[in-house]
Amino acid sequence: MQQKIPTVIISGAGLGGLTLYHALIKNKDKKEFNVKIFEQEASPQDRWQGYHIGINNYGARSLINCIPSSIALNLPKAMPNAVPDLEYHGFTLADHTGSLLLRPPTKQVKDIYEVANTSVGFSVAITYRDRLREVLLENVPVQWGKKCIGYEETEDGIWVLFEDGSKEFCDILVGADGVNSPVRKQKIPELKIFDYGITMIITDVAAPKNLLDRYIKLNGIGTFQESVGLNGEITFIIFRHIPIKQENYENKDELYYRMTIAFGYPTKSDDDNNIIVDDDDPASVVEHVKYMIRKLRPECEMTDILLELWDLVPKTTPDPKKYPFKTYNPVRRRKMQDIDPLSVNVWTSNRVTLLGDAAHATSPVLGIGANNAIQDADVLSQALLNYSPENYISCIKEYEDEMLKRNSADVLKSRSIALRQTTPVGYIGSILRNTLMRIINIFINFFDFNLLVRKN
Ligand SMILES: Cc1cc2nc3c(=O)[nH]c(=O)nc-3n(C[C@H](O)[C@H](O)[C@H](O)COP(=O)(O)OP(=O)(O)OC[C@H]3O[C@@H](n4cnc5c(N)ncnc54)[C@H](O)[C@@H]3O)c2cc1C
Repeated sequence: MQQKIPTVIISGAGLGGLTLYHALIKNKDKKEFNVKIFEQEASPQDRWQGYHIGINNYGARSLINCIPSSIALNLPKAMPNAVPDLEYHGFTLADHTGSLLLRPPTKQVKDIYEVANTSVGFSVAITYRDRLREVLLENVPVQWGKKCIGYEETEDGIWVLFEDGSKEFCDILVGADGVNSPVRKQKIPELKIFDYGITMIITDVAAPKNLLDRYIKLNGIGTFQESVGLNGEITFIIFRHIPIKQENYENKDELYYRMTIAFGYPTKSDDDNNIIVDDDDPASVVEHVKYMIRKLRPECEMTDILLELWDLVPKTTPDPKKYPFKTYNPVRRRKMQDIDPLSVNVWTSNRVTLLGDAAHATSPVLGIGANNAIQDADVLSQALLNYSPENYISCIKEYEDEMLKRNSADVLKSRSIALRQTTPVGYIGSILRNTLMRIINIFINFFDFNLLVRKN
């Protein structure tokens, strides 16, 4: 008797969920699934999906494994090849003045295939996250406006429950529904989000060439840069050296570049000073960020540039005709958080599993969250090749055993670095810290030491 084709439901059409969808369809010849994918947002344009992310060697390998060639052909739209001599897709850590502290060994790479072949420290393809999602959405029949609110287990499978009152039956449910995953909250209610006590504000801006040039003159051409300060505050700047379309900009003679800017500081500073900010009003948030920059950073060119970059954030909901992209929806204070998936004693493998941020949201300092979500999709799709009605639990267990160990280690590594970087050190402390970082920098570059991210 012919066996029925099992159904896999993916809740969440983010980077991880979409990659899994492609991998399961790509492997159809080896193992066929009826794959359905549901997303809470009303449409692909519902929410700004932006900012730049770095796709590293193992993320690139998994992405290439999972997607069909038709999608791979479109990847340059999301991650254009590096501009020769102008773009250096490495990570740099600087002090509050922009002076270099650490630059892990990086092999200059042209495209995603070269990234996939590197084993060196921090070789990444700086990618437009929103466009990567657009590319991954192609030919995927996402069912939009379907917010999962939980599930019911029966002997034969799972009923997935949606906010609109509907439900769908499946053999396997994958919660790829991000950091606030309702699937995780039901499967492992004990698994709690860890709060760093750090407030982050992240957005994308269109920076004019003269400002980008000033920034590069100070910080070098690295496109993924972090700077640590004296008072526990950090900044991230990630950009591509490729002009963006800017038809309706004020100054038509100027070139504009899309830059992701992030500022983080100890949340205690807000609490101690009884600061009131309206997070629903971009102007109020931007004023607050500028106030914190002035308060926590000494006067210098780097501080001036940061203030000018934050001034570029639209103070009202942007007119899409005027701006080439919306700001991160909307600019607001957010908590830096993570989830260590092994912080609970019991993780029972059953028909419901998790992938990406839903299982192991990670602080952004190492830029690995999306890479790990994509790698999860790869590992899960491989494990499901052995699926049968009798052994589905062992497939899920095989995936979860690997996924939990790999990601717990990464979450904790990222947490330890983030907490160290956001500990206020003061002026004297910063001299000691910076000297130590510079010594480490010499050491890791001399020995070509892969210090920050895994090779595989
Ligand atoms: C500033 C910043 C920089 C970063 N840089 C990097 C980087 O350089 N490299 C890197 O690898 N990672 C980076 N990350 C992290 C990365 O963006 C995330 O880890 C990644 O998007 C996780 O993918 P995901 O599919 O697990 O979750 P998401 O991308 O969050 O997708 C989850 C999806 O589920 C949907 N959803 C949520 N709830 C429901 C529900 N109830 N029902 C149905 N659908 C639901 C959401 O709408 C969303 O579409 C960065 C993050 C930030 C904030």
